[in-house]
Amino acid sequence: MRVKYFEGDIKRQLRLLYLGSAVVAVLNGIITAVLRLPILPVFYCISALLFFFLYKTVTLRIFLPAFALSFLDVVLQSFFTVYVLGDDCGIQLYLLALLIPSYYIRMTHYSPAFQRGFIIVVCAACIVGYLVSDEIIDYYIDPITHINNLSELLFTFINVLGSLSLLAFVGSIFAQGYQRGIRELLRSNSKLETEVERDALTGLKNRRGIEPVLTACYQAWQGGKAPLTVALGDIDYFKHINDTFGHEAGDLVLQRLGELFRCKLPTEAKACRWGGEEFLFVLPMDKEEGKAQLEELRREIQSMGLCAHNEPIPVTMTFGLVSGEEADGISDLIRLADQNLYAGKRAGRNRVVVL
Ligand code: GH3
Ligand code: MG
Ligand code: MG
Repeated sequence: MRVKYFEGDIKRQLRLLYLGSAVVAVLNGIITAVLRLPILPVFYCISALLFFFLYKTVTLRIFLPAFALSFLDVVLQSFFTVYVLGDDCGIQLYLLALLIPSYYIRMTHYSPAFQRGFIIVVCAACIVGYLVSDEIIDYYIDPITHINNLSELLFTFINVLGSLSLLAFVGSIFAQGYQRGIRELLRSNSKLETEVERDALTGLKNRRGIEPVLTACYQAWQGGKAPLTVALGDIDYFKHINDTFGHEAGDLVLQRLGELFRCKLPTEAKACRWGGEEFLFVLPMDKEEGKAQLEELRREIQSMGLCAHNEPIPVTMTFGLVSGEEADGISDLIRLADQNLYAGKRAGRNRVVVL
């Protein structure tokens, strides 16, 4: 997966988390101000500003300080709210919403041991924070404010709803990001697989790419489903072309040949760059038809009319052709095609040889 895409997506997820937290803090600020509670409206106002600031600035690189600040804020929020209203207010549930984002540490550059330690510490701190605010503060300190039952019910209802919704929101952002990451990984993986099987210069398949095609065509021929003809083609005097017109002109010849094979061969026929200036052709057709196809191709190559420095480049190719019946297995097919090719070279080049 591209690192830039990955970092961009994680940043977007973290920003959404902080935006969600800022919205919850604003809502709590409004509720506590309407109920005229002490301390809390100011605290929620500061929290909202903090989350909004983190929403604007957070990236994976500053995940740790950003998480530490938000953790501190949620723990203080829990303590203050229990101190003011008692432990029935449901505010401690926000501590649970912190557990999922702590897993983002797994995507940072910290060592695996540090990451594991971080998650354990956050889990332990959430449990301790919960127990301290839910049991200890409430046990030792009487709530400093007693609001009427209906207001308390409303506050508790909103906070339980708010904290659980935030938890669901955080969880869904995390899961969605994970799914998107996997999809992107699979996409770039299949792109990479295609690139590995393709020759960059000619755009044709390379040896690795043609192997499964050759095997499938050979099996189809063995099963009597389709005829099979295989050919090896080699550019004539290519070293001379390189030496006379330069290596770049040689590359241009290879490129143009790739284009020609793609355009002129029927779709069921496959060509690949077998290596250097050699090409392999897998033709699901009988020997006569295969020979006719390659003869046509040979004539096209001869009249391609490529030039370098206003000089025509004489390009011709020799082909050695063999049919499925003549060989004993795939490697034998290649060996016989190579034999025929070199017979063609010896006989003067620029020809299609079938023995
Ligand atoms: P023949 O007619 O007997 O095939 O002669 P030839 O000169 O084509 O054969 P030889 O094997 O002597 O030379 C092949 C040349 O192909 C040598 C090598 O530098 C060149 N070649 C191989 N790959 C590339 C490539 O990607 N680009 C360029 N420009 N040249 C290449
Ligand atoms: Mg050659
Ligand atoms: Mg060669």
